[in-house]
Formats: sequence, C-alpha cells, structure tokens
Amino acid sequence: MKTRVTEKLGIAYPIIQGGMQWVGLAELASAVSNAGGLGILTGLTQPTPEALRDEIARCRSMTGKPFGVNLTILPTVKPPPYAEYVRAIIESGVKIVETAGNSPREFIAAFKEHGITLVHKCTTVRHALSAERNGVDIVSIDGLECAGHPGEDDVGGLVLIPAAARALKIPVVASGGIADGRGMAAAFALGAEGINMGTRFCVTREAPIHDNIKQALVGASERDTALIFRTLKNTARVYSNAIAREVRSMEYRPGGCRFDEIRPLVVGTRGRAALQSGEVDGGVISAGQGVGLIDDVPTCADLIERMVADCRQRLHIASAWAEGAADVRR
Ligand code: NAD
Repeated sequence: MKTRVTEKLGIAYPIIQGGMQWVGLAELASAVSNAGGLGILTGLTQPTPEALRDEIARCRSMTGKPFGVNLTILPTVKPPPYAEYVRAIIESGVKIVETAGNSPREFIAAFKEHGITLVHKCTTVRHALSAERNGVDIVSIDGLECAGHPGEDDVGGLVLIPAAARALKIPVVASGGIADGRGMAAAFALGAEGINMGTRFCVTREAPIHDNIKQALVGASERDTALIFRTLKNTARVYSNAIAREVRSMEYRPGGCRFDEIRPLVVGTRGRAALQSGEVDGGVISAGQGVGLIDDVPTCADLIERMVADCRQRLHIASAWAEGAADVRR
C-alpha cells in the first residue's frame, strides 16, 4: 500500500497510531511500528523532557522501524516547558513529530532544520491550510467523531476529510471514527492518503491500560461517548462514564461552572490512575465514536493485517459496483 504518506514516513501501511495522553508509551508505539504502521509516543505523557529522552531510547530498543513523538499544545492544569520537550525530541534524533492542538508555528523551523517530518493534527480546513503554509508535511484532519479534542466546529469526517483533501496540496490523513477496514477504505475514497486511529489502538493487547477499561470499551456502543468542556471552548470527547456525566451536569446547570470547579474530577493524573487501576468510573477516559465498532482485543499486528485485508476487499467491492456488478458480497 503506497501513498505519499507511506513514502514520507517510511512505513509499509498508511496507518498511524495517534498520540494519546497516558497511552502512547513505548510498548504500544513499538508494536504499531513493528506491524508496519507508525507508532507514536506521547511527549507530555512523560513527566519531564529527560523522561521523554529515556522513553524514546526505550522505544528505539523495541523497534528498528520509524516511530514518531506527539506534542500537544492545549490548555493544561500545569503548563509544560514545551521548548525543552522540543529540544529533547530533536536531540534524541527522532525524525517524525505529530503536533496537535494549537499552532506549532514557533517550533516548526527548529524541527525542519533537523530534517524532521511534521504531521500536524487539526480539526478545521482553515487550520490545515495555515499549517501547510507554515511548512508542515502532512495534515491529520480530525472529524467530530474523534476522541479527545474535536474542536468547536462540529464537522464530521464525511465532509471534513474531502474538504481538507481538495483544499490542501500536502497529503491528508483521516482521523476520527475509523476502527475497521470499512472506515479505512472510506477514508481513501474521500481523498485521504492515510488513516489515524486512537481508540481502536487503545483496545489492543499491547496498549498499556487495564483490561477492565479495554472490556468497557469493547462493550460500548457508538452512543457511549460524551462531549465535555464544551462550555469552556475546549471540547473533549470522552467515554460516557460517571465522571463525564457529572462534569456535564455541572457545565449545564444554570449559570454553568468554572474550570477550577471541575478540575478535581478531570485532572489528567486521575484519568491515568483509572487507566492503570481499571476503575472505569475513576477518571476521564478519552474515547471516540468509533468505539461502537470495536468488538475485540487483538494484537496490533493482527489488527493492522486484518484492516488492510478488509480495506482491500471493500475497495474491490466498490470498484465492482462501479463497473456494474450488483451481486457482490456486502
Ligand atoms: P490536564 O490535567 O492538564 O487537564 C485535564 C483536561 O482539562 C485536559 O483535557 C485539558 O485540556 C483540560 N484543561 C486544563 N486546563 C483547562 C482550562 N483552564 N480550561 C479548559 N480546559 C482545561 O491534562 P493532562 O491529561 O495532563 O494532559 C496534558 C495535555 O495534553 C492537555 O492539554 C490534554 O488536553 C492534552 N492531551 C493530549 C492528548 C494527546 O493525544 N497527546 C490527548 C488528550 C489530551
């Protein structure tokens, strides 16, 4: 499977494991890379830039294939020293960086000077165009279905992906709501040259999260996510557990709420503890609507192999329909 995305990233399949807070550790990133996709370590999951250097070295000891590092720039309870994380990434010799959240403009020149390929994840065509103008190599466009922060415009992938693909010259990666070969084939038909998955990779054997959480996600339907932080203009899509419901009831009570009132419920360290202990209602757990398409806990290699085979089959069916066949298997 060759696209401009596989060529720019040096990977066999155009499948990226997007950066996920608390989940993007070396175990998962190396498993995805070893299976022919692009694994990504989440920079801010490491408590310090020094710890990120160690995690990059650990990942390198687990795979000889390309992997990337995610750097997300969004409101945080404790603002991290971004410039030091950038230096750690560059000095560790990483060659692929996924930026997300606010514009990475101030760091682009430093990354480019060191020959780093930049994938910028964003949620609107206007931000994608601005990223292209600023020199990023690939845009990962995140539809409303996605886990984490879908932005405030509420455009689903069916419109957002082709809108981005026709506006940009650089390749587009489709993100949000993709969890199987059908979604992957659809992304290609919409003009993307690769796909990004988060929630689907959380429910794999190698994902460093407790099995209770994986089983809760397997049991969830496409209706089991919720949008929180909407009233704070920092919308996040998460698994609809007791914490998410409580946050929403505070946000939508008369007069709303301030961030500091919900902070004890949503602080990232509490979400991390829940992922590790398996307490499903213990903290905020990010999940996209694609959770409704997840029925099992495969290895990353099995997942990628079967998605690629199913995607090929779906594209074959679509092309048979286009040629007038009516009786092909659905
Ligand atoms: P945190 O403990 O700093 O904050 C918890 C949540 O509250 C986050 O979603 C954050 O965006 C939000 N938040 C913090 N301050 C806020 C404010 N003043 N107003 C509105 N919302 C606010 O988060 P963390 O779990 O330590 O994560 C660190 C950063 O990484 C956060 O910005 C988070 O959103 C981001 N993140 C990254 C990824 C990724 O894939 N790299 C995924 C999810 C979140």
